[in-house]
Amino acid sequence: MVRNFLDMVQINSLSRKEGRLARFVMEQLSSLGMAAAVDDSASRTNSDTGNVIAYLPASPAASGKPSFLLSAHMDTVAPGEGIRPIVESDRITSDGSTILGGDCKSGIAVILEVLTAIVENNLPHGDIEVCLTVCEEIGLLGSKYIEASKIKSKFGLVLDSPNAHALVIQAPAGDNVEATIFGLEAHAGVCPEKGISAIQIAAHAIGQMRLGRVDRETTANIGSIQGGMAVNIVPSKVVIKGEARSLSLAKLDAQTKHMRTCLEKAARKFKGDVAFNIQRGYMPVNLSPASQLAKWVRQSAQDLKEPLVFAASGGASDANNFSLHGMQCANLGTGVRDIHTLREWLHLKDFLFSAQLTLNLLSKL
Ligand SMILES: [Zn+2]
Repeated sequence: MVRNFLDMVQINSLSRKEGRLARFVMEQLSSLGMAAAVDDSASRTNSDTGNVIAYLPASPAASGKPSFLLSAHMDTVAPGEGIRPIVESDRITSDGSTILGGDCKSGIAVILEVLTAIVENNLPHGDIEVCLTVCEEIGLLGSKYIEASKIKSKFGLVLDSPNAHALVIQAPAGDNVEATIFGLEAHAGVCPEKGISAIQIAAHAIGQMRLGRVDRETTANIGSIQGGMAVNIVPSKVVIKGEARSLSLAKLDAQTKHMRTCLEKAARKFKGDVAFNIQRGYMPVNLSPASQLAKWVRQSAQDLKEPLVFAASGGASDANNFSLHGMQCANLGTGVRDIHTLREWLHLKDFLFSAQLTLNLLSKL
């Protein structure tokens, strides 16, 4: 599993450039006797490949078991090309000039290891569906545009979070909030009173907004602001981009409405205008600890005499999109730490436990 992980992190796979990695994993899936193919999502994600989807049909003795989905994403964030992994006794790091790519190639390595163990040891198992997605890091696009008819499982695990002793059963829904503020150009020295400053409108609106951690379940951020032409021109246009997230859809609606209202009020106050592009990016994951999936995972950890906690995350994953199709889907950690930084590293003991837990889970169903 470590060897496979090291091979995969050395295959560049930035978002929309996952093709080489897709071919690498499809070869492995095929060599396990699985039917593996890419779906038709590439035209919508603009990746150089579709999502990889593969099936392992139930073993004859286990045909009554529920179908189960295993998923991880193939893309990485930047700087993620030319990764040189360094293996130490208990961890793997990058050389410090790139990320490691453990997010989410550790998850792919876990899935391939579990499948290999099942096939090589002839372990009884129900139908297993594998979906390795593209473009997760740029808005969960692969799982968003997956051919839904290709996935039939009612239960699934996404292997895409840090701690293998934590099962993320709650993750927020999110809105993308983009606002274009219109003012009026004027010479800033000769006739500023004829102008309407879009930057002033934006500043006033943002100053009124509840941002950051809004409450235990809700966060909001303005992440980008662009506008203005020159120091001597009253700026006529500003585009601001932000987001809101909440575990509660009602709170998310309220927060997004609040952000919108602040902008509308500021535009009115300064006699400017504002146009919005607000989109629901993803729906929440909201599984109960009493759900069938949570119980199975907890029992699997208990069998291995290891602790397991149920967690809520502020981050979204492909599990959000799979949940949308009515699947009980949670996010299990794979041992990766400090993701999206040059310090990213893989905790080898945790990595191994993630595979043991997943294998034990599949044998429990
Ligand atoms: Zn990830």
